Amino acid sequence: MTLRDTNVDRLRSGSFDVFIVGGGINGAVVAASLAGRGASVALVDRSDFGSFTSQESSNLVWGGFKYLEHYELMLVYKLCRSRNRLMKAYPDNVTELSFLAALDDSSPYPPWFSALGATAYWAIGGFRTRYPRLLSTARIRSEEPVIDTRSVRGGIEYRDCYLKDNDARFVFSFVRSAIEAGATVANYVELSHAERVDGRWQVRLGDLETGEEVTATARTVVNAAGPFVDGINADWGIRTRHRIVYSKGIHLVVPRLTTTEHERVLAFFDDTQRLFYVLPMGNRSVIGTTDTRIGQPFTHVDDDDRAFLLGQINKRLDLPAPLTEDDVIAERSGVRPLVVASSGDDHTDADWTSLSRKHEIEVDVAHQAITIFGGKLTDCLNVGEEVADAVESLGLPLEPDHHNWYGEPTSETRAEFFRQARLMRLDDLRQRADVEPLSDRLWRRYGRRAFAMLEAIRADPAMGEDILGGTDYLRVELHLAASTEMVTRLEDFMRRRSKIEQVVPDAELGDSEGLREVCRILFGDRADEKLAEYLEGRTRPTGSA
Ligand SMILES: Cc1cc2nc3c(=O)[nH]c(=O)nc-3n(C[C@H](O)[C@H](O)[C@H](O)COP(=O)(O)OP(=O)(O)OC[C@H]3O[C@@H](n4cnc5c(N)ncnc54)[C@H](O)[C@@H]3O)c2cc1C
Repeated sequence: MTLRDTNVDRLRSGSFDVFIVGGGINGAVVAASLAGRGASVALVDRSDFGSFTSQESSNLVWGGFKYLEHYELMLVYKLCRSRNRLMKAYPDNVTELSFLAALDDSSPYPPWFSALGATAYWAIGGFRTRYPRLLSTARIRSEEPVIDTRSVRGGIEYRDCYLKDNDARFVFSFVRSAIEAGATVANYVELSHAERVDGRWQVRLGDLETGEEVTATARTVVNAAGPFVDGINADWGIRTRHRIVYSKGIHLVVPRLTTTEHERVLAFFDDTQRLFYVLPMGNRSVIGTTDTRIGQPFTHVDDDDRAFLLGQINKRLDLPAPLTEDDVIAERSGVRPLVVASSGDDHTDADWTSLSRKHEIEVDVAHQAITIFGGKLTDCLNVGEEVADAVESLGLPLEPDHHNWYGEPTSETRAEFFRQARLMRLDDLRQRADVEPLSDRLWRRYGRRAFAMLEAIRADPAMGEDILGGTDYLRVELHLAASTEMVTRLEDFMRRRSKIEQVVPDAELGDSEGLREVCRILFGDRADEKLAEYLEGRTRPTGSA
């Protein structure tokens, strides 16, 4: 029986304290926080965990320097605190990096004023990062020669953090913590109906893998459906003070543009005077993002989006040849679920980009229901804690919060892993010089589970071999994914547990022997069927509902 089968089995006629709909960052963090404090929890997502908004982010863990433009001091202060907490709790996953903003003639602020802002941002962030710098044009040219400095007046460097692997894998780390704390979780299970019967919630669920219908009951429900919260609340007969509007954002993944010596983000103002970035993703760069008002949550990168971003970046970089569509390796597109008052107007285009990015949590005591509106990956720990408080306010006592439901293992455990890895010369097994040492990689990705990998490699050296040509994945990682990461469709592994699909061009992946072996490890007898399903999905247009 697979991990998923066991969990679907536990959902059948299950009776839970809390039922969570939506396995994006908000649902995942709430499951980890509640299960970690002794509640019996169920979490379902109708697709894979993190596969909607949470996989389309800029991968930044940040206080939001740009929100200072709208004087959102309290939001920036809170996000900086959230960033600092994540930096401390995830020293290997949430990594500090430099943001270099080059300011040209059309930038809304001169470099000296931006430097003042960066210093204020550094102070608001409690001085937890390295200090900001005012940069001359010559300094910018020497540090990042790719920037076209002909009309640059100078710039600044400030610091924030990013998720070194990817956003969706970060989401899965909370799902994994929830599983380890005893939660019942399943991907590809849709909530189709919920109603209150005799003082409890009765939920009807569809297993989208088998077509089976399952029912369960819960004392309290948490609506963590991101862009879909309003529709679900309407079905449940719940009225709220807030609602969601959608802001579309896209990213383009291209070959690496910046120097590989430093992990650095380049920041520019686009022609509409909105900040956009060139972000590092391994040996690739990610250009984005945009902020466009949209009426519905399903999106894809269209020709105008692509042309806009490529045009903006080509104007600001000094490249041997301008970037074209042919250079785009992968695309990302999603909607930010932004919170507005239910009674408010629909907002004009002019004030669109100034809509706040803060989250709201609403509690409906009569219905025993909690809704999470909006939020950011950066703010996830607060969401986990605030929903736990809300659950307690509804009369379910939780165990005290020892803050052990999140974070990487202790530094002693880390030191022991690296000691063992050193003794067996793990890093000597690395087959590609351009990727980081294996010990760093395995520890960051798997934490405590990486000890079992050392054992597996010791027992069978073939486990330490690369499995998929130009990607940085070992055979042993696939075996671990098969048993512990609830990979239900091949895309779950290729796009979310790993970021292979985002960094390796389609032509290199194709229908290769490596991919077939990946499928055999993940799906056993169903390997051919799962590969065919994946390859068919890759040829379908993106953004379809
Ligand atoms: C372009 C862009 C860039 C961003 N960059 C950053 C950044 O750099 N840093 C940062 O901190 N934040 C960033 N964000 C914000 C952040 O990504 C989102 O706020 C966050 O991911 C929202 O998570 P969520 O859990 O609310 O929603 P989602 O991730 O959308 O999760 C909701 C889930 O509910 C599921 N669901 C819906 N209905 C049902 C149902 N009936 N049954 C079962 N499941 C259901 C969906 O399948 C979905 O997986 C960015 C967002 C965008 C769009």
